[in-house]
Amino acid sequence: MSTFQTLGLGEAVLQAVDAMGFVTPSEVQEKAIPILLESDTDIVALAQTGTGKTAAFGFPLIEKIDASNKKTQGLILSPTRELCLQIASEIKNYSQFIPNMHSVAVYGGASISDQARLIKRGAQIIVATPGRMQDMINRGMVDISQINYCVLDEADEMLNMGFFEDIKSILSHTPDEKSTWLFSATMPREVSVIAKKFMSNPVEITVGTKNSANKNVKHEYYTVAARDRYPALKRLADANPNIFSVIFCRTKRDTQSVAEKLIEDGYNAAAIHGDLSQNQRDLVMKSFRNRQIQMLVATDVAARGIDVNDITHVINYQLPDDIETYNHRSGRTGRAGKDGTSVVITTKSDARRIKSIERILKTTFEKKNVPTGEEICKIQLFNLAEKIEKTEINEGVDQYLPEINSHLEHLSKEELIKKLVTVEFTRFHDYYKKMRDILPMDDQGRGDRDRDSNDGSTRYFINVGEKDGFDWMSLKDLLKDTLNLGSDVVNRVDVKEKFSFFNTPSEHTDAVIAAFEEIFLDERKVNIEISENRGGRDRNRRGGGGGGRGRFNKGGGNNSRGNYRGGDRDRSRNNDNGGGRDRRKRRDRY
Ligand code: AMP
Repeated sequence: MSTFQTLGLGEAVLQAVDAMGFVTPSEVQEKAIPILLESDTDIVALAQTGTGKTAAFGFPLIEKIDASNKKTQGLILSPTRELCLQIASEIKNYSQFIPNMHSVAVYGGASISDQARLIKRGAQIIVATPGRMQDMINRGMVDISQINYCVLDEADEMLNMGFFEDIKSILSHTPDEKSTWLFSATMPREVSVIAKKFMSNPVEITVGTKNSANKNVKHEYYTVAARDRYPALKRLADANPNIFSVIFCRTKRDTQSVAEKLIEDGYNAAAIHGDLSQNQRDLVMKSFRNRQIQMLVATDVAARGIDVNDITHVINYQLPDDIETYNHRSGRTGRAGKDGTSVVITTKSDARRIKSIERILKTTFEKKNVPTGEEICKIQLFNLAEKIEKTEINEGVDQYLPEINSHLEHLSKEELIKKLVTVEFTRFHDYYKKMRDILPMDDQGRGDRDRDSNDGSTRYFINVGEKDGFDWMSLKDLLKDTLNLGSDVVNRVDVKEKFSFFNTPSEHTDAVIAAFEEIFLDERKVNIEISENRGGRDRNRRGGGGGGRGRFNKGGGNNSRGNYRGGDRDRSRNNDNGGGRDRRKRRDRY
């Protein structure tokens, strides 16, 4: 494996590598740097954003430039102002130990004469957006007639954004003998055209395979009803308490409205799209980089310049029209060797498009279920416990401790912990207690979580519910105690008004049915059966009557209210959900 030393870099750059904390070269650096250092060749490098491509061209560029000469020797074109600033700042870092090396960023929305003045003072490297560069050339503010190196960064994005004519015109002002280095995440036809037209015998390097997905990014999708898109997004955020994400919407309107809803619901969110002024966009990006914003809702165009490391999730609130855009979106996570997740919230009409993304990007998507309220509460509880454990003690609290201790000293350690976590936990518990869970849509467009899908679990109906004083936690506890089959056996407990549902692994089905043969709640026989419920459309079912919450009793209690069989018949009728499907074989399916 190469090291930065063996790639052939000079002392000053190696010192900068050290100062920046880079230890091993990334794949694109390993491949491109030796080639670019050794010869003055043209190169086409296919590499995603986040792979370390800026250093792959930045290091050799700095090595090759003569810092004692003030004239402009290198031009880097990049699609957006944000990327342009980012590259300029990286170049400054790379050249921090080289005296008299100057680079200037040239982009729209800032004073053109200030930028021209900086160039005049002497800038060996100009990093520019095509539009502003063209403007400066037209006004005679810049001379690129003697450059030796021209880098086209994110060439596919520049062409996507309609900069072909600008690029062509800018290149016509540069010498023919210069070297051209083209970096692109994908290789659409337009990029090949540029390579053919403006480059001579370029060396081609590829990181991963052409149009391939980044290996560090895991792809997942959740198929929900269209009305559940937003609730599903919220649940994904709640199930990932440390989420740091970009959420992509297709239109400015959706972007704005999703961000507004998230803010209203108490999330650290903001929108970024073309209707915001440059100033507003800068402010949003600053807060995002500082992590004051955890969920940045963006259009594809506005997100082009988002080069922020450590993004944990890219969420496709809607799928984009083309696969390249999907690839660009997901490339915002999994940067610099870190892992990331690209999530798609789909409706069933998108199912085929997921398949074609899988085929073209040669990757697989994991089909996931939207987390249940119960799962989210559990995650939040454990996250809270971890946060408490990792909290650094602030000695400032010392002075108040004697008084606080005297308030709390009658509590045992267990009670204290329980109360402490309850303070925060209750918020999620109370919220999700009231919410119906979001069911995945199967190929026919029905919710299918409650079927014995392929997850090896069985769903049961039980005739106790909220009316009996249960919520999902208390019912789960009671079921666990009654079944006595181990702590993780009961899950997906969903409590309705008069009845509830829960799951166990299918291997326990017989034991579960047997355990409830002779169980009574107060005087009512507790009835349990395997559920055919496909999607919570059975709110009107009639289960057992009321009765205060109590404990289950075993054995021949008074079954005077034992008209449950009547309820059972009702249930059978309603349980068809209008579909009139044959339920005779229901036991066989599990
Ligand atoms: P880029 O693909 O150039 O946008 O780089 C993505 C991020 O990775 C930037 O923040 C770089 O500073 C960082 N980076 C680039 N090369 C390395 C490396 N060899 N080791 C660690 N981090 C790197």
